[in-house]
Amino acid sequence: MKTLYGSTPEEIETIVLAQGLPKYRAAQLLEWVYQKNILAWDEMRNIPQDAREKLAQAIPLTALAPVEEKKAVTGGSEKFLFRTADGHFLESVLISQEGEAAAPGNRQTVCVSTQLGCKVHCAFCASGQGKFLRNLTAGEIVEQVSRISRMTKKKITNVVFMGMGEPLDNFEATLKAIRILIASWGFALGARRITVSTSGITPKILEFVKSTEGRVRLSVSLHSSMDAVRSSLVPMNRRYPLKELVSALRRIHRDLKREITFEYTLIAGVNDSEEEVEGVAILAKPLRAKINVIPYNPIAEFPHQAPTPEAAEKFCSQLEKHGLRVTLRKTAGRDIDAACGQLRLDRMSHR
Ligand code: SAH
Ligand code: SF4
Repeated sequence: MKTLYGSTPEEIETIVLAQGLPKYRAAQLLEWVYQKNILAWDEMRNIPQDAREKLAQAIPLTALAPVEEKKAVTGGSEKFLFRTADGHFLESVLISQEGEAAAPGNRQTVCVSTQLGCKVHCAFCASGQGKFLRNLTAGEIVEQVSRISRMTKKKITNVVFMGMGEPLDNFEATLKAIRILIASWGFALGARRITVSTSGITPKILEFVKSTEGRVRLSVSLHSSMDAVRSSLVPMNRRYPLKELVSALRRIHRDLKREITFEYTLIAGVNDSEEEVEGVAILAKPLRAKINVIPYNPIAEFPHQAPTPEAAEKFCSQLEKHGLRVTLRKTAGRDIDAACGQLRLDRMSHR
């Protein structure tokens, strides 16, 4: 479904002109949606009511309805549930990081979903269980950001494509959403404030980096340095094995001098061996990649355990000994499954 959210200046202009309205109304509409994040036509105060009525007949403004908001007990992140116009549910997360005295600054990151379900079906991921329903539209992607900003009265500073779904498997809508998030007529976020996380569809990564001129941050879900292990976790690895993936990333690193992050979901007894530390170091060092270690958040369908905090620390410090930059994601919000990448399509009975 086409909505005003998700439309480009050219598309909005076409709608405006088709309604017999002056062209400058298009610029006003852009500002109302992407900069002021309004969610109802009658909030557009500088557009006369008859013009608003015409426009409302021509195109719906929004595609999502808020369902509920859950606050993480441990602070740090909040989860939001939305209903799509066709009656499905999707989730997004707000991660608030208040600056400390030594490093002032206030980062408000929205983690957006890009699909209803996910076709990649990683063994450990809640989003990949169950059936894939459909791609989200660019409008549904950017509206998550606007709604969360309005609901929390916070200015969103960063967007990560790490919610439900594989962004590069919904290529066009992801690109369009990024264009809207970056554009000065859109959300005007800096490209470096956008991160796209992918499970590693190698040809799509190359195409994506080309289309975005390497401007947005790229995170690649690695999870293992060994093909057999990685294939058991990310089935797509059989099609795009590590060698191919890593050589594509080397090309990107060499040509664009851009930093790449590897995400590594650490699972006790599965991918936390010393052999993995060595293997990850061999892959990551030439790329000067940063490693973001995410302790496994257990799901019933994948009966393995999270590493102990000590084991996770040890894995990280061993990687650091190789001269790699490593971050260990805290599991704030675990009590409500709020961390990105752990969103589940299990609200079908929520109607
Ligand atoms: N599809 C993309 C982005 C969404 S998943 C991707 O796979 O990269 C975002 C991150 O959350 C991925 O690195 C994923 O491996 C991680 N993740 C998914 N389920 C998890 C779980 N149960 N525990 C810890 N991390 C998980
Ligand atoms: Fe899809 Fe990412 Fe989950 Fe894998 S980890 S199933 S790619 S959302």
